[in-house]
Amino acid sequence: MIASIDDKDRIFTNIYGFQDWGVEGAMKRGDWDNTKDLMVRGQDQIIEDIKASGLRGRGGAGFPTGMKWSFMPKEQKPGKPSFLLINADESEPGSCKDREILRHDPHKLLEGALIAGFAMRARAAYIYIRGEFIREAENLFAAVEQAYAKGFLGKNAAGSGYDFDVFVHRGAGAYICGEETAQIESLEGKKGQPRLKPPFPAGVGLYGCPTTVNNVESIAVVPTILRRGAAWFAGIGREKNQGTKLFQISGHVNTPTVVEEAMGISFRELIEKHAGGIRGGWDNLLAVIPGGSSVPLVPAAQIMDAPMDFDGLRDVGSGLGTAAVIVMDKSTDIVRAISRISYFYKHESCGQCTPCREGTGWMWRVMERLRSGEAEMHEIDLLQQVTKQVEGHSICALGDAAAWPIQGLIKHFRPEIERRISERRGEPLAVAAE
Ligand code: NAD
Ligand code: SF4
Repeated sequence: MIASIDDKDRIFTNIYGFQDWGVEGAMKRGDWDNTKDLMVRGQDQIIEDIKASGLRGRGGAGFPTGMKWSFMPKEQKPGKPSFLLINADESEPGSCKDREILRHDPHKLLEGALIAGFAMRARAAYIYIRGEFIREAENLFAAVEQAYAKGFLGKNAAGSGYDFDVFVHRGAGAYICGEETAQIESLEGKKGQPRLKPPFPAGVGLYGCPTTVNNVESIAVVPTILRRGAAWFAGIGREKNQGTKLFQISGHVNTPTVVEEAMGISFRELIEKHAGGIRGGWDNLLAVIPGGSSVPLVPAAQIMDAPMDFDGLRDVGSGLGTAAVIVMDKSTDIVRAISRISYFYKHESCGQCTPCREGTGWMWRVMERLRSGEAEMHEIDLLQQVTKQVEGHSICALGDAAAWPIQGLIKHFRPEIERRISERRGEPLAVAAE
């Protein structure tokens, strides 16, 4: 069992905004403290340290961060500068952690941008911030200005001898622009539609130049990892699931919250310790979506003691995703909840590839028939088959994300779907409840 952490092991010390988010407050909390000393160890050593820390991408996919940086070229070709692109287009339903960093700890992100950018030999970082993040963008723009005024960014950034600029770009409200290649297209001024991968952005990215796209949290933890040492971060959690993580707990808990905890903490402890328990008590828990709307739901009995990390949640048929933990108690109309998620993906599909464009609309319409009980019994299997035709057959992960929640619903709550259809027709239940 993975132990919970205490305050001394928390990276985000102003996550609730109780202190000054500006540069003076950030410096009091240790940000921008001799940043150049962290850079002096050299670009390759920084990448080795991040690899040794075990940090895996915090945007949802969990790709090893140090390895991703190592794909960037060590020599710059003429006219092909390298770029860091920080994905602040947080839009996954249930996710709200990057928002808190941008609001309350933007200097951790900017210091991390300088160090990460230096390590991958990038000339500049672009921060692509979600269009709806109005206050967050205000703070971020102000933080960038403060960092330039202090000499932390720009020429000879933080006295390191390295020139590094940061540009903030505001999105326009499309979920798909959180997908890294759609984000690159959007930043280039085009319609935000994903590109086929490979080539991955490290080969061909922004303006055709080598680019690494990292999530806000992945970058914001970098300075603390280097200051405290890779071994400290790697010592929290368990193998391949290391470090601390911002969990976002919403839904039917007594006190919804965003909290930094050890990777691998059990679901039960996470909820008891930080969210005041389940509304109406543990017996009232129905199911949990543990990683944002793109991962399948897990029924109550299977999630209770699951370690909240990449492997622990994969073992119960779901995933850590963004660690947006959506808790549903027995008052939830679970078919309606998943149908609403289906509508979201239908609405946000960019329409570029047929299985996703047609499949998301088709799946949502059948989900609505299941919700109302108007569907025929055989449509449950038909829907399952269609999810399999969408999954893995589209350019980006949105197709999978639309299919998985429905697969999870059918797997775990088929008797509930059948009950609706039977009751609507006035027929007796064909299948006993699970
Ligand atoms: P992915 O697995 O395709 O890629 C993850 C990262 O690793 C990318 O940066 C990719 O370029 C890199 N990568 C993967 N294989 C590589 C290789 N062989 N060589 C070089 N680089 C490689 O996943 P993705 O589509 O980027 O992300 C999907 C996840 O995003 C979902 O699991 C979901 O949880 C999450 N998501 C998050 C949000 C949010 O708001 N934070 C929104 C939607 C989805
Ligand atoms: Fe667009 Fe969907 Fe294809 Fe992704 S899977 S490229 S969102 S149509």
